[in-house]
Amino acid sequence: MLDPLIRGRLEQAGAQLSERVPLSRLTTLRLGGPAAVLAECPSTDVLVAVVRLLDDARVPTLILGGGSNLLISDDGFDGVVVGVADAGVELGEDTVLAQAGAVWDDVVAKTVAAGFGGLECLSGIPGSTGATPVQNVGAYGVEVGSLLRRVQLLDRTTGEVRWVDPSELGLSYRTSVLKHRSDALVLAVEMTVRPDGASAPLTYRELAVALGVREGEQRPTAEVRDTVLALRRSKGMVLDGNDHDTWSAGSFFTNPVIPDASLPPVLDAIKAKVGEDTKVPQFPGNPGTKLSAGWLIERAGFGRGYPGVESPVRLSTKHTLALTNRGQASTSDLVALARTIRDGVEAAFGVRLEPEPVTVGCSI
Ligand SMILES: Cc1cc2nc3c(=O)[nH]c(=O)nc-3n(C[C@H](O)[C@H](O)[C@H](O)COP(=O)(O)OP(=O)(O)OC[C@H]3O[C@@H](n4cnc5c(N)ncnc54)[C@H](O)[C@@H]3O)c2cc1C
Repeated sequence: MLDPLIRGRLEQAGAQLSERVPLSRLTTLRLGGPAAVLAECPSTDVLVAVVRLLDDARVPTLILGGGSNLLISDDGFDGVVVGVADAGVELGEDTVLAQAGAVWDDVVAKTVAAGFGGLECLSGIPGSTGATPVQNVGAYGVEVGSLLRRVQLLDRTTGEVRWVDPSELGLSYRTSVLKHRSDALVLAVEMTVRPDGASAPLTYRELAVALGVREGEQRPTAEVRDTVLALRRSKGMVLDGNDHDTWSAGSFFTNPVIPDASLPPVLDAIKAKVGEDTKVPQFPGNPGTKLSAGWLIERAGFGRGYPGVESPVRLSTKHTLALTNRGQASTSDLVALARTIRDGVEAAFGVRLEPEPVTVGCSI
């Protein structure tokens, strides 16, 4: 129960408070028990004031954007879930400045409509702009880290607001110093965009093929956005309430990066199981070698739709890397499926997959 004095101060600061809110309504997996309190912050100023108040009072908090990279326990969260809602977006000559609460795909659509290039490969990723640096979101050969000019943070240890250079954020493949930590809150991001209307160079083969260009070429940004959205829809990677294949957190496991010394035994184990002539998909891991988690899951015996129609949680029928809620699932069902997949891949190939979503009150 929130102290009535703190409750009053939060309301005075502009937060809209509700109690016992099912978090399953606020996550794309549609899983998670109740939040003791949900504090919705309509502007970034309110967000700063609310988080400072909660931190001063040492109230446990969970920052919630679009809930698309969160796996929350069935017990919910016994503290204040802070909703980030400021959707402000400003376009400059070759920049876009977006508040943390802006829906990421709206920001992408707005830059594309204004004739700016750079963000189009990141079309269709759900969630808020403030969460994009947290795991350095990426798709189709582009990561948000390559676009960031500066990021505005609230330092929750001092209460100070400051702009930081992206080099301070430790951005790398699906992670940053912000992930799995709560001492900094992203308030706004500023990105560099291309004013010439051309896309980023198209480095991702599947996308280049779909557009009929060679890798490294560019296309008009709107054409690339449409093609990315079509590719993503075919994989259940664009949210659609009517399609249970999209009731997910996107890719559930990151692609494993294997250190050079460990690669030969891993490749031997894969070939022993799958066949000596198998061509194992490999990508630069910088350092090490990145393998495809989805490919490994399939080769370990977990096909699309696993474990079958009776189960409340299944691998997506369109994409083996997405774990999905078929409508009646609980978080513990999903955790059990994730463990089965992770342990099966490890037993088959000696590769341990790591979950991509942030877990709250549960672990895989
Ligand atoms: C269908 C689908 C497809 C997806 N495709 C991709 C993809 O192609 N590439 C990709 O990288 N990801 C993908 N994702 C994952 C997810 O959309 C991204 O990670 C997204 O950036 C999460 O944003 P969110 O606002 O929903 O974050 P949330 O799920 O609300 O939060 C995730 C984490 O970030 C923290 N957080 C949220 N906002 C802030 C903030 N302002 N400051 C500090 N911390 C914050 C939260 O506390 C939590 O720890 C996909 C997810 C789904 C459901």
